[in-house]
Amino acid sequence: MSSDLRRYHITTFGCQMNKADSERMAGVLENMGFQWSDTPDDANLILYNTCTIRDNAEQKVYSYLGRQAKRKHAEPDLTLVVAGCVAQQEGDALLRRVPEVDLVMGPQHANRLQDLLDQVATGQQIVATEPIHIVEDITKPRRDSTVTAWVNVIYGCNERCTYCVVPNVRGVEQSRTPEAIRNEMVQLGEQGFKEVTLLGQNIDAYGRDLPGATSEGRHQNTLTDLLYFVHDVPGIERIRFATSHPRYFTERLIRACYELPKVCEHFHIPFQSGDNDVLKAMSRGYTQEKYRRIIDKIRNLMPDASISADAIVGFPGETEAQFENTLKLVEEIEFDQLNTAAYSPRPGTPAALWENQLSEEVKADRLQRLNHLVGLKAGMRSQRYANRIEEVLVEDQNPKDPTQVMGRTQGNRLTFFPGKIEELRGQIVSVKVTEVRSFSLTGEPLSALATTAS
Ligand code: SAM
Ligand code: SF4
Repeated sequence: MSSDLRRYHITTFGCQMNKADSERMAGVLENMGFQWSDTPDDANLILYNTCTIRDNAEQKVYSYLGRQAKRKHAEPDLTLVVAGCVAQQEGDALLRRVPEVDLVMGPQHANRLQDLLDQVATGQQIVATEPIHIVEDITKPRRDSTVTAWVNVIYGCNERCTYCVVPNVRGVEQSRTPEAIRNEMVQLGEQGFKEVTLLGQNIDAYGRDLPGATSEGRHQNTLTDLLYFVHDVPGIERIRFATSHPRYFTERLIRACYELPKVCEHFHIPFQSGDNDVLKAMSRGYTQEKYRRIIDKIRNLMPDASISADAIVGFPGETEAQFENTLKLVEEIEFDQLNTAAYSPRPGTPAALWENQLSEEVKADRLQRLNHLVGLKAGMRSQRYANRIEEVLVEDQNPKDPTQVMGRTQGNRLTFFPGKIEELRGQIVSVKVTEVRSFSLTGEPLSALATTAS
């Protein structure tokens, strides 16, 4: 690769974990002397950080890649990298399908990007998908925000949900040490970040692979312990965590969220289905009753907590009555937000091979009915914000109205209000809510509060 004009462009598909990985890989590239290019066609290194959770996400990657592969015929110095979950799933097969690709690298290899590109520079085509122990990254990520940051806490997943490709592509659980996590947060606090979201596929499974047990026989470093351990990091005023699995969600964790003022009362706990037989077929390891008990316990201590989740409709064999159990759960729990998806058969997962697949029409119809109910319920739940004073951490300008800024409440509601971003970015502002919508709010600022750690 020539040393002049090193410009890169990253396109990220999928979840927050991928976004966090992209920020780390961008940091590695900038450390190597690359500069960000807004337009992919002006970049001489293109990286797709891919997602394979549903088929449509995967197909999108191939259509983007096809265009750059053509470009490479005219510009042989162009470096094409496919990272993330499609890379892991396809491995060598991806090179056979798109021979113009220089580097195929699974998510566990994100921190090795520089080494891998050095090998590419010697003229090799590289496939890095073997399982490895994820090494601590010493390069600073290039973070998209200067206010909020993601911090990886646990990589991989040890579950075996019958629909899900994640364990195949992200490997087994690997927890970072509490010290490494705290150090990263201390640096973020020093750099002026105000909010950290701790990330993991199943964040509440954190620490099961770390050594040490307490006298009561539980793991020494659970997510609960981690929250207490990082809570006093100077400068960091809000701590969130995602995604929680109902199987590992404990009363101790609920109590910690209640007791620790910086931990936001915002819980993302996917339930996937409201029907016990479907949950069993999915191998989720809990019942809808257990799920409801978790939400009850959260709301008993924190009645105003924001609750969000993921759900799948049209799982193989799901009957109309079973789907209605999902509607019933949504009706009764009244989520603040719900990510919904039609079941998509994924290669290498058990459910993809079952014969009781539902038609696309049935799945689309159920998805539409569920989404309608979610909007309705979120709208009702949003009403509790009407005329209330909320503390909003300002992140950016409203892209649709430059006279407004936008940020999030403690409960993660997107909120817009009049103000100048140059003055307010990173500030926590008291806002009187004047307009309530299903998933966002508008208000009037009352005052800029002190932003020192409480
Ligand atoms: N580990 C988290 C959990 O178990 O709740 C979820 C992580 S997964 C990357 C994100 C979401 O993708 C899941 O909660 C599920 O709703 C959805 N998902 C996974 N596989 C899917 C599939 N085959 N079809 C449709 N949605 C799927
Ligand atoms: Fe996928 Fe299940 Fe693991 Fe979540 S817990 S990432 S849905 S296998």
